Amino acid sequence: MMKNRSIRFKMTLWYSLVLIALVVLTFLIVYMAGRMVLRTTNRDYLIGAVEENVDKIRFTEEKHNDPGRIYIPYKEGYLEVDEAFLDVINDVHAGLYAADGSMLYGENPLARDMETASFTDTCIYYCKVGGVSYGFYDRRLNLELPDGEALWLRGAVSEAKGTEELQKVSRIFLILFPVLIAVSVVFGYLLTGRMLRPIRQIERTAERISQGADLKQRLDAGKNQDEIGRLAAVFNRMLERLERSFEAEQQFTSDASHELRTPTSVILAECEYMLEKQRGAEEYGEALQVIKRQAERMTELIRDMLDFARIDQNSGQYAMEPLELSLLTEEMAEQLSGAGERGITLQYDIAPGIEVKGNRLLLSRLLQNLIGNAYRYGKENGHILVRLYKKGDRAVLSVTDDGIGIAPEEQKKIFDRFYRSDASRSVYGTGLGLSMVKRIAELHDAELCLESEPGKGSCFQVSIKIFCNSNVSLILAE
Ligand code: ADP
Repeated sequence: MMKNRSIRFKMTLWYSLVLIALVVLTFLIVYMAGRMVLRTTNRDYLIGAVEENVDKIRFTEEKHNDPGRIYIPYKEGYLEVDEAFLDVINDVHAGLYAADGSMLYGENPLARDMETASFTDTCIYYCKVGGVSYGFYDRRLNLELPDGEALWLRGAVSEAKGTEELQKVSRIFLILFPVLIAVSVVFGYLLTGRMLRPIRQIERTAERISQGADLKQRLDAGKNQDEIGRLAAVFNRMLERLERSFEAEQQFTSDASHELRTPTSVILAECEYMLEKQRGAEEYGEALQVIKRQAERMTELIRDMLDFARIDQNSGQYAMEPLELSLLTEEMAEQLSGAGERGITLQYDIAPGIEVKGNRLLLSRLLQNLIGNAYRYGKENGHILVRLYKKGDRAVLSVTDDGIGIAPEEQKKIFDRFYRSDASRSVYGTGLGLSMVKRIAELHDAELCLESEPGKGSCFQVSIKIFCNSNVSLILAE
């Protein structure tokens, strides 16, 4: 049930419960401590009051009529005490007793009830009298009395003393407690609502985006750089990526259909022309050749498009592992040197033992596209040079030809999808090879550069960080 509640509700609930628990706990601790302090204070008062009177009493045989003195008749003489003897101070009632428990003087209201209890010297004890708990303290007086008997001072203090104040405070607390809790709950509810407002905004925008499929919208979480602000920024970056790949996909589809339209319209036009009337066998043969060529173009285009889409969209699926680029380059160069198109010769100069971290399939595709282009746009009886060498901590792979070259204004554009330079129109191509090379280079964190001069030739360079196995280098260092 709690699962479906809003965060606002849950936060307020937990926060209130913790708050209530804390306040109640604090109150209990304060209350207990208060009681403890009261008890010790009462005990101190009790002992203090009794002890103060212990030395104030004297036995005389005659009354002296001293002002400020009281004479209590005892046996054949008097007990002489100060006027302030056994005054009630701090609610401690004290009494002077004979050894048999009869009260001689004092204010102890419990005297009657306690008369039977025997005296214990300098010891605090607690007793219930008439339903109220009292603390008692007795003190034996060291007086030289004619009969040699002992007199006792007994103090009593109610344990309830001071608890009334404590209860008053508790009552105030009990009244204030719900008010305090209510105020903090309302405050907490408003505060969480305020803090969660940007999240609701994010929710609304996300809803609008998903309903209208409008990827141009961005989340607004204010200028704050807090968790929510950062979350919105991450979402915005994600949306940007989505928008870019969505646009790229749209662009790709429209480019692809545009590219496919040319061969299909040629095929259609050819068919319509041939179907207009009965034609000779030779014409049919020529038409079929045209249709075959166009169908081959389409197949090639579709194959390249699928390859490109696979590399572009499933880039994460290509595992990057250490591989010997020298060996791979040599294999590819060897394989492609046999092409021998239009008398072009391919030579290679490959430094041995260069390792990089990469994907074999992708790197062979990159080499294949670069060498393939060098053949396609190379002049008759021309030369291609494939080189691999170390430059600092990077491996540089270059494919140089002495072919038609690329005009400076076109050098940037040739890496775009479907772009083909004017000079190359006579040679068939899909315009996807170099965009694939660019994507593969990106996946390998490689730098791609081009030097070219129209009519003289081109040189494509890819530089990849050399993979250095630290264990191997350690062993070699030893
Ligand atoms: P395609 O070769 O199928 O047309 P690419 O993407 O491989 O597609 O190349 C794009 C364009 O770049 C080519 O049409 C061509 O104009 C130019 N190009 C690529 N490689 C070379 C090269 N080695 N020499 C001259 N021009 C080149």
